[in-house]
Amino acid sequence: MLKKMNIKNLGGKDFLMREYFEKIYKRSQGEFYNLIKDNLINNQKTFVITANPETIMLAEENDILKSAFLDEETIVVPDGIGIVKGAKMLGYKKPDKTITGIALVEELFRYCNDYKKSLFLFGAKKSVLDALVKKIQKDYPDICISGSIDGYVENKQEAFATIKEKNPDVVLVALGVPNQEIIIYQNLKDFDKGIFVGVGGSFDVLSGMKKRAPKIFLKYNLEWLYRITREPKRLKRFLKSNVKYISKIKDEKKNKTSKDE
Ligand code: UDP
Repeated sequence: MLKKMNIKNLGGKDFLMREYFEKIYKRSQGEFYNLIKDNLINNQKTFVITANPETIMLAEENDILKSAFLDEETIVVPDGIGIVKGAKMLGYKKPDKTITGIALVEELFRYCNDYKKSLFLFGAKKSVLDALVKKIQKDYPDICISGSIDGYVENKQEAFATIKEKNPDVVLVALGVPNQEIIIYQNLKDFDKGIFVGVGGSFDVLSGMKKRAPKIFLKYNLEWLYRITREPKRLKRFLKSNVKYISKIKDEKKNKTSKDE
């Protein structure tokens, strides 16, 4: 069962980054994928947040996202290099690699196909979703797609009621951070099983409608830079959350060092 948190005490200026970093998955990428595969096979309900610095900064402004992130049942993996570097700066055991939303979705497609599991896709534009469904049917013929609903429907909670009726093994929600995590967390208690992941813009890329970052960007963990060059309007959003994030980590690192001296 999900642990209830006292959300009255959440938020505020005096939060500690450490609180978030305690929650970041510290085992290897391979162990994480094995855990997800086992949970899928055993119908163990699982909520994964693929976090980047923006997720943490948004959690400070949104109590539900913060509760979702810090809930002991939620698995939080480092989506971006910012989280890996932040963990290292604060002296946490560094996660060995990032686990991006796209990589996790591809892995889940494989498991669903191998174990003949069902999948529900919620989010992105209708054209993107239709292209993705076709692609899955072609590349992963043993996946049972139990439904898909685009992310621009008027009533998103109603969409979730449909997902509940279908009772799928995997639910991927592509509405962007923080809306996807919030709607999953609000509805999670009504499901008995399912692997739930908020996958951001993954459907756009996996459907082939948006270009994936070239390998060289992926190799040097610069996917974020590629996204900014393709969509310059992201720069403001990126700077806003990342500047705050870095200065907060530096402060905490300094405080720790002076306390240790
Ligand atoms: N989206 C949606 N409904 C909305 C707003 C966004 O379905 O009301 C989709 C959008 O089409 C895109 C995804 O949510 O597929 C968000 O992608 P983005 O790359 O902005 O997410 P991020 O990973 O940056 O959070």
